[in-house]
Amino acid sequence: MVDAMVLVCVSLAKANAKELVRAARLARKHGADLVELRLDRLEKCTADDISWLRKQIDFVPAIATLRPKAEGGWYRGSEPARLALLGHAIECAFEHVDMELCIGQRKLGRLRALAASRGVGTIVSHHDLARTPSTALIARKLESSARAGDLGKAAFSARSLRDSVRIIEAARITRKTAPGAVAIGMGAGGSLTRTLGPFLGATLVYAGLDEKSITAGGQPDISGLRRMWAVAGGIGRVSGSTGLFGILGHPLGHSLSPLVHNTAFRLLGMDAAYLPFDADGAALAPTLESLRAAGLRGANVTIPHKTAVIPLLDGIDAQAGRIGAVNTIVCRGGKLWGRNTDVAGFVGALRSAGVELDGARALVVGAGGAARAAVVGLLENGASVTVINRTRRRALALAGQLGDDKISVAAHRDMGEAAERSDIVVNCTPAGMKGFSGPCPVPPGSLGRNAAVMDMVYNPVRTRLLAQAEKRGARTISGMEMFIRQAGAAFRLWTGRPFPEKAVRRALLHSRFSTNQH
Ligand code: NAP
Repeated sequence: MVDAMVLVCVSLAKANAKELVRAARLARKHGADLVELRLDRLEKCTADDISWLRKQIDFVPAIATLRPKAEGGWYRGSEPARLALLGHAIECAFEHVDMELCIGQRKLGRLRALAASRGVGTIVSHHDLARTPSTALIARKLESSARAGDLGKAAFSARSLRDSVRIIEAARITRKTAPGAVAIGMGAGGSLTRTLGPFLGATLVYAGLDEKSITAGGQPDISGLRRMWAVAGGIGRVSGSTGLFGILGHPLGHSLSPLVHNTAFRLLGMDAAYLPFDADGAALAPTLESLRAAGLRGANVTIPHKTAVIPLLDGIDAQAGRIGAVNTIVCRGGKLWGRNTDVAGFVGALRSAGVELDGARALVVGAGGAARAAVVGLLENGASVTVINRTRRRALALAGQLGDDKISVAAHRDMGEAAERSDIVVNCTPAGMKGFSGPCPVPPGSLGRNAAVMDMVYNPVRTRLLAQAEKRGARTISGMEMFIRQAGAAFRLWTGRPFPEKAVRRALLHSRFSTNQH
């Protein structure tokens, strides 16, 4: 079975029919594949109104929905009147009609037969406005609605991200028994169900026309939806067979990693998408579980989760264990394995600039996660390392944990002297990144002509430290070289394919960097 690409359906709720037509035109203009007409929102909805709407809205496929209050809608008339109007919407040949699972098999069967005779598609939906039940119960609701119509849909009130995990698990379990079904978490806790649904084969993703007119909690508006997916080439290219990749961090701002990996996927013609998943501390575990349930193939982890993510994984390799940080998650057979490609990126950047590591004396400035990766990379390749950090205690802790007699710690005031003695100087602090007004992390006068100076900061590509080092005749290596290489190493681990480094570098340098995160 070939998975169909997901369609964007803009749900429209307006008080009168003319406004509904105007909104449908706007939705089409903004790129809606189809619109849902919430007929139940109209102040007056007669058979004549429905016929008139059908005549007017011939420029975009439409779903006619007339939802009762008990199912979260606005319709207040009697049930027989509602069913009669639904029948009329079918007679008018809207492309699709939405019917509620709760009306029962007999009535559903009758409406479905009528719809089939008019070439109208049926969406059978279930709504639980109170809670998100167990995974098994969600799966049953998805299967029942899928059996009763051409497309099943089930929406649950999701109070927390944990609720989303169950909805996504149920969508995965029912991929074959409820093909194309749409499983939604309503409310702020459910937004991941909307992002990840297309990767599980959901046929539709619902959006509002704008922030003010969304029709269900947690629903994105169409502009926000398009913005979020733009970096992955648009939501319209995603289907149930698209490989899911992403980055976990907080805040993610304008992370460059989606640009890097989506560019590589596009160049290699791969059916894959890489998205940012902004998750703060408490959200990390349920977000990762949701991604796992949705069939995650690979992910990056960035500040502040590189250490916190470790207990959530099925295992980590020895190098990540030594560094105490994971920046890459590789998924194999449903298991999540932690790796650290910062070391490969760091060492690769130095090597490609012709820097000899074996026997070199290196100065590492900083004692955070990036510094640990640099120290491990340097030690593994035969260099000796002096660590200097603003907070000396952290430098001592780093040296103590790595327990290697080739590491020493020096005081911050001795930075100049340590730099003068070093063959390699690496800045592993954010000092120097765009918007940073403090002094150069290493006194420029101490940078020798024979030293190689690397700045992990890559925005700007040429930092003040690198400019000063260049002036003094030192060899300089931009953090961008490390960034591209750590991304390449992660890409190869995930896909087993060669990473199109040159093309990705071009794409990166042409983009406007606005943060220094990855
Ligand atoms: P981290 O774990 O938060 O550590 C930050 C380090 O920088 C700490 O040692 C901190 O010192 C020090 N620091 C912070 N502000 C400072 C300042 N104003 N002056 C002097 N020292 C300061 O962060 P990280 O993950 O190690 O990342 C560090 C930098 O490397 C970031 O800019 C990050 O974007 C960059 N990075 C680049 C790459 C790449 O591929 N190029 C990869 C990873 C990281 P205290 O201990 O005193 O707080």
